Parts: sequence; C-alpha cells; structure tokens
Amino acid sequence: MSAYTDTAATACCTEATAATSVTAAEPLPVLGRDVTVPLVTGGEVAYAALDYAASAPALQRVWDDVAAYAPYYGSVHRGAGYLSQLSTDLFEQSRATVAGFLDCRSSDQVIFTRSTTDSLNLLARALPADCRVFVFETEHHASLLPWGDAQVTYLDAPRTPAEAVATLERALADREPGEGPALVCVTGASNVTGEIWPVKELAAAAHAHGARIVLDAAQLAPHHAVSVQDLDVDWVAFSGHKLYAPFGSGVLAGRADWLQQADPYLAGGGASRKVARREDGGVDVEWHTTAARHEAGSPNVIGVYAIASACRTLTEAGFDTLVAREQQLIDTVRAGLADVPEVRILSLFGDDAPRVGVISFVVDGWNSSHFAAALSAEYGIGVRDGLFCAHPLVRTLLGGESQEPGECGAPEAAPGERSLNAIRVSFGAGTPDEHVDRFVRAVRELVADGAKWQYRTEDGRCVPAV
Ligand code: PMP
Repeated sequence: MSAYTDTAATACCTEATAATSVTAAEPLPVLGRDVTVPLVTGGEVAYAALDYAASAPALQRVWDDVAAYAPYYGSVHRGAGYLSQLSTDLFEQSRATVAGFLDCRSSDQVIFTRSTTDSLNLLARALPADCRVFVFETEHHASLLPWGDAQVTYLDAPRTPAEAVATLERALADREPGEGPALVCVTGASNVTGEIWPVKELAAAAHAHGARIVLDAAQLAPHHAVSVQDLDVDWVAFSGHKLYAPFGSGVLAGRADWLQQADPYLAGGGASRKVARREDGGVDVEWHTTAARHEAGSPNVIGVYAIASACRTLTEAGFDTLVAREQQLIDTVRAGLADVPEVRILSLFGDDAPRVGVISFVVDGWNSSHFAAALSAEYGIGVRDGLFCAHPLVRTLLGGESQEPGECGAPEAAPGERSLNAIRVSFGAGTPDEHVDRFVRAVRELVADGAKWQYRTEDGRCVPAV
C-alpha cells in the first residue's frame, strides 16, 4: 500500500470489514440464510443450501467488503488516477493475503484465474517438454482432463490412504532412469466422498522420485487450513465460489520456474512488458516473468478482492473451530444416514477416514434424481444428484450395486455402461444445525413413507408433476 492510497484504503476496506462480526462457534453469516422457498405440498420454508461442494453461499463479510470497496473500484495496473492506484494496491495486497492464507514460500507466485479448472489448465499449458503426468482415476474431471498432449498415467482407485501412496510410489518408480520431468495432480478432499487425501505423504513420494505435485484444493481449502510449506506441494489451486467468494475468481499458487518459462496463458495487454515492431514488419514481445505473465487482460478485481476477504474471514474465525463445528455436522449426517438401512454412503477409505462436509450416497429402490427432487420440492433442501464431474470415481464406488431406478427413470445408459447416479449433500461454515437435522429427518421420512408428490422426467431430470 503506497502512502498516497493508504488513507482511502483504510477508510473503504478496514472499517467495512469490521461491520459483520465473525465467530466460528456459530455458523458464519452467509447470504441467503433468510431466503424462503415454496414447497409443492404448500407453504414456504427457509431454504437449506446443502450443495456447498458445488458452490458455497457468499459470506456476509465478503459481500460487505465488496460493497464497501465497489465505489472505489478502478482499473488496475494501468490508470494514473487515484482510484486506479488504490485498486492496484488492493489487488496486489489481495495477492499477498492469498499467499499468507496458503502459507506459500516467499519465492512462490500467486496467479489469479477464473477457477480451479482454469488454474489446472494454466499449469497444464506450462508443463515442460516431455513432462509426464500422474493422476488418480478418482479425481474430479478438472484434474483428470486438462493435460493436453502430455503422457498421462491414470492410477487405479486406492482403497486406503496408504495404498494411494504405495500406488503412486510404484508408478513413479516405473519411470526410466533419467526420464524427463513429472507432475502428480492430486485432490486434497474428494468432491464425492469428502475424504481427505494423504497429500503430505503423496508430496513426499513425488519428490522422492523427482516429480512435482499440484494440489487441487477446491474442496479442501474451504474446510481446512492449507499450508503449501507444511504439505510441501509445488502448486495449489482453488476456486473463490467454493470459498464463499462467488465473484468469478480462482487461484493458482506455487513455484515460479515452470510458469515463468511457459508461454503466457493468454496473450495480450498486461502480460507483455514491451512490444515493438521489427524491421521485417513483425512484432517482438517481451513478456513479464511475474504473475502478470499469465494474467493478460483486465483482471477480475472484485473477484480477487472477494477471495482475499474470504481468506481473512476464515482465518479470523479460526480453522480449528470451523473444523470442530463442521465435524459435528458430519457426525449428525453420517449417524442419521447410518440409521436408514436402505441408504449406502459412498466411501473409498472407510468410516474412519478424515473427511470434510461432503457426503454422497444412494438409496435402495430410489432413482437418485427422484430422491433429490423430493428433498427440494417437499423439504426445501438443495442437494445435488449425478456423477459430480468425477465419473470414473462414482462408477467405481457404485460398482456392482443394483438399484431399482424407481419412477422418473434413470438417464439413458450407453451400451455396457451403468446409468446409476448418486446423491450428494455438502455443507460448511455457514450451515446451521437445523439444515442438517431437517435433511436427516427428510431422508428418514422419504424412505419410510415415500414421496408425497408425483414426479416426472423432464430433460433427463426429475421434476414435480404439476
Ligand atoms: N476440483 C474439485 C475437487 C472440485 O470439486 C471442483 C468443482 N466441483 C473442481 C476441481 C472444479 O472447480 P471449478 O468448477 O470451480 O473450476
């Protein structure tokens, strides 16, 4: 923060931040907590947002900070005016906040992207020549798919954290001596099972075999403190919209070398330091070697500011307290589901695995889309059904499970492919106890008594029949 902009920044941002008090013993205040939705059976009910793993509601504090900053908004890295300079300072300060939140090394770069998907695609474009990629089949598609022409080794789903490490060790050891660089991409917490992966051990295995590792923290960072230094990962990626800051920004943070040597992710203004016509009529470009190299174009200042606000708010609330509270919610949901014999929770690592508030399950005799539609229409509960952009994992977990599709018909299956879906309930720092209590009661009632309403299939999904 320059002396020039210091006073206004203090006025616009520090005071506004104090407007909402935050304590993690209670749910953190989020937007939408007073929204009511209609029930097909009549009346209205407070909406229970239990789909945090897709997108979490905005923290009230984030919203307040963004609203307080909005009048001061200006272009960054280009304007001579006061608000441009202020915005530039806040933008760069947000970078430092995110670096602190992730406990980055001082040499790391924090690059602002659109999302985790964008971050991993950026890293994929920065792989050195002949880099091999190792990724478990259990990953989200954002980690499975972006690797372009690189040779990718897909590792089988492990059934314990120790097996994950052993599987990776074996695969890396199989490389020829002197083979080129390698990158391991691993999730911190599964978006299907919520299970936390042994990231530190996987990082140690990767490094022992001369490979690097990127952590997909899309589901971990909103629930747990992530320390790049302690986990010893080379990069970490996460999304603002899962971290209570739904303004279209994401983060890739980590080692600068591969990123500096790669072509800019997008070519254009902001990424280029110097552009000049050549005598032969072409153009010479000197690209930045800082984070700006991969941030061409006008950046999403509000989105970046919102992420920094979320990082500050979660840190202030305290991850120890947040984790303890979330664990109570997890225990309530898992115990409630375990009480219903028709319900099977999907898990790779078993009951004792540490996990975040993401739980997927199937219900005997129910089409998952039908079940999710009834939770919404009859109880005002928003969950997700499907394969959660982790098709290989969900198919592995559903395995030979036979499930009666029930009404509304399962989506069409490709030949030889099962068409079963799962239901996912997910929650976090803004979830009140009442939401998970209502969810557990709804599951019990639906299984015991059936749906109270008729549903029909529309565009492959179950919807209430009017
Ligand atoms: N990784 C994981 C584990 C995820 O859960 C998700 C989102 N569901 C992503 C990556 C992709 O995140 P985004 O859609 O924000 O790019």
